[in-house]
Amino acid sequence: MPKRYVPNNDHCTITKKVSQQIFDKTTSTPHSCEGNNESILMKLEFWFWKTALMLAASFMVAGCSKKVWYKGNTHAHTVLCGHADTSPEGVTKWYHDQGYNFLVLSEHNQFIDPQTVKMPANMREDFILIPGEEVTGGLMAHTTALNIDGLVDPRLQQPPGASKTQVIQAHVHGAKQQNGYTILNHPNFHYMHTISDIRPVEGLHLFELYNGHPSVNNFGDDEHISVEELWDELLTDGMLIYGVSSDDAHHFQDLSLERSNPGRGWVMVRANELKADAIADAILRGDFYATSGVILKEADIDGQRISLRVDERETERELSSSFVVGHIVDRGEAGYLIEFIGPGGEVLESSRGLQASFEVTSTHSYVRAKVTMIRKTPQGLENFYAWMQPLFIDGRKHGL
Ligand SMILES: [Zn+2]
Ligand SMILES: [Zn+2]
Repeated sequence: MPKRYVPNNDHCTITKKVSQQIFDKTTSTPHSCEGNNESILMKLEFWFWKTALMLAASFMVAGCSKKVWYKGNTHAHTVLCGHADTSPEGVTKWYHDQGYNFLVLSEHNQFIDPQTVKMPANMREDFILIPGEEVTGGLMAHTTALNIDGLVDPRLQQPPGASKTQVIQAHVHGAKQQNGYTILNHPNFHYMHTISDIRPVEGLHLFELYNGHPSVNNFGDDEHISVEELWDELLTDGMLIYGVSSDDAHHFQDLSLERSNPGRGWVMVRANELKADAIADAILRGDFYATSGVILKEADIDGQRISLRVDERETERELSSSFVVGHIVDRGEAGYLIEFIGPGGEVLESSRGLQASFEVTSTHSYVRAKVTMIRKTPQGLENFYAWMQPLFIDGRKHGL
């Protein structure tokens, strides 16, 4: 039984230590000088500062409790689609038992209401289902409608003879009508979506940068760019779009590289609470990172500085599972590589190690950080990744 993800609350621990020190200091006996006016004034001053410091400390502790990372998958199928092998209950149980905090049952053109799904016996309190659907329309446009109120019917959304851009746009409108957000799925599936199809879509701010299905061409080929290169093209052209990693799981019964098994791609979302709205809003804000196995202890943006630190122990734990799948590469040096990437996909700075930071200047419209863990196996070298979301400094923003 895998250990569930334990949120990193180092910051809280430090803040609590500071507040305890303040408490210890202020509760120590003040100078003994009773019996005169000066001593009364000193006492008053002492109690004033003690109260002020304790209030400040309690606010610090209360504030830090909001910073929690949640592990989740936004894309999974069930027997209801006709080409997957496990019931909604079985799929839910798999993610619960593997320690995830949230799951979206994203069935093709079917809305699985979480209220109708029997939850696992002895369910943990830190696990939820988020309502969703994989809206599956013409021209191979697949999108996850995230945190919707009900069915998004693609037949109602697509005008006859629509272009790829219009089809994706219709999905965005459909999800919005159901109060949800749209993630454009696996754009390199049959290499169907290029920058010219995606860039004009209004209100699209999320797409699958990584998808665990074996047929979706995450890394491109000799004739096609990778999805990550596509991302940099969109970002360079001014689009505000964040990269999600998901499983697109169909097969839970037998493990094989040819099957679309679970546990290959997920997101780590930083949210105030584990509720569907809070998680979906955090994702739309870009307050998450995408991963195929690398876990971060810190992923912070402070002003124009991006800082990150790898959680080596959690990463090793994730990579010891039989579900993760590395990207096989020809070259590389075993260990961790951290890169800061700017417009055009240019690597602005790279270093080997577990932590790095980068001060973004106005020279670049955006900068994003990527961690690659290169592992040597008897079969060769394989890569696992964590992708932080870009920091934009050209003022681009959306409503949330
Ligand atoms: Zn799909
Ligand atoms: Zn799918």
